[in-house]
Amino acid sequence: MVRAMKKVGQGFWGYLLALGLVWGWLVWGWAQPSQSQVEARAAIQEFLIRVKPAQMARVYAAAESSQEKAPDLPDSPQNIDQDAIKEFPIINFGPSGAGLSPTQPSGFPPASPSLAPVASPRPPKLAGQKRSLRLLATGDILTHTSLRVAASLKDGGFDFIPFFEHVTDLFHQGDLVIGNLETPLAGAERGYSGYPQFNAPEELAASLKAVGFTTLVLANNHALDRGWSGLAATINNVQKAGLDYAGAYVDPADKARRLISVYNGILVGVLAYSYGFNGSPGPNKEEDWRLGFIENEGALEDIFEARRRGADFVIVNLHFGQEYQRQPNQSQKDLVGRILEGDPERGLMGADIVLGHHPHMVQPYLVGARRDQDQLVVFSLGNFISNQSKPYTNLGLILDCLLSIDEAGRKAIEAINLIPTACHTLVVDRRKTFRVFPLAMAVDSPSSLSFLSKNELKKMAKHQAEMERHLLSLMEPKPKK
Ligand SMILES: [Zn+2]
Repeated sequence: MVRAMKKVGQGFWGYLLALGLVWGWLVWGWAQPSQSQVEARAAIQEFLIRVKPAQMARVYAAAESSQEKAPDLPDSPQNIDQDAIKEFPIINFGPSGAGLSPTQPSGFPPASPSLAPVASPRPPKLAGQKRSLRLLATGDILTHTSLRVAASLKDGGFDFIPFFEHVTDLFHQGDLVIGNLETPLAGAERGYSGYPQFNAPEELAASLKAVGFTTLVLANNHALDRGWSGLAATINNVQKAGLDYAGAYVDPADKARRLISVYNGILVGVLAYSYGFNGSPGPNKEEDWRLGFIENEGALEDIFEARRRGADFVIVNLHFGQEYQRQPNQSQKDLVGRILEGDPERGLMGADIVLGHHPHMVQPYLVGARRDQDQLVVFSLGNFISNQSKPYTNLGLILDCLLSIDEAGRKAIEAINLIPTACHTLVVDRRKTFRVFPLAMAVDSPSSLSFLSKNELKKMAKHQAEMERHLLSLMEPKPKK
């Protein structure tokens, strides 16, 4: 089985992951063949029993090969450019190697996804059991007019489900599947429209639910494209579809209730903030609960509140950055730095995961550990679906990772899998339509992308290779001067 997995792990994707994991090995101090290596291997095997999608098999194949290579690697991260790290304020790459420290001993509610408010203190039911949750996340769901037209049905309704047919199986394997809903769903009475003031049919929520999304981010610059009443209608429609949401709320109690959700016995806080709202002033500080606004500087206190309520992991969505830029700017780095740092003087941990979006292009990721806390940031997940035409705007990223707590209560971000995607326009029954698919499919299973010509398949394979390099670009050593 290991040999079969190794085979899958070859090629660029395997190479990317091997690089990432080898690097993670170094900075997280996994280089020594130790008990933690044995545990990691056991965790890998355990998870393989639970899910066996091709993409994850690749991750584990890479993990296996990096474990075998580990003893040959230097003890300190010599192959990482130390100057680049010093310049970069976000991840503290300082000496780790001690492994992760146990979290506070605590019990957990029953092991089923639930949006119910979490009572504190928690009943000690699952203490001492290893548990994990699979997190998937995408970038912008942008509903340009041509998407709405493509989704329209003869009876006047809308069906967006076919757009996502190539990612639906993957999404259904996630416990928590987050997407950035970059449009109000404010109802037909407010008039549907695409760019620049969006309003998409409310059927989009049901379609997103059907393809496997569990949670939508509502804090982005289009949140108020139909005003505050449009945002309220959007929340109502998202609720009706049975989806959870973050970044905008009905009232303070709604925000408090949704601060933490439980998946497989793991408590997760999902928060979301936007840099602005297309000219609308946004919420004032007193009514900060209405809509996550970076300027109101409430993010850290929200993170701390989630921690106080027992969150094991806090995921912060930031809608920020410069449009059409493939690298994060300094203000993105500074903000992410503050959000990851938390407040050490008060002993309060920052976020575990930061998910960026808004630039319409994928920006690289970083992983690291800070005071024994695993941390991951993707500066921009890019466009998940859109009708944008600038170079790279057809590309996006699905983050796929495993969050786990072991028997001793140690938390970890495991098996980070980055899945570059494309949104492609095609013609079906003489109508323009859209399909989102992992770029790797163009290499692995081109027959399932029969709408692509040979040239287009080649182009997708090129995108995949380029994206793998691009994603690593903040972590790769700088060329020697
Ligand atoms: Zn945006």
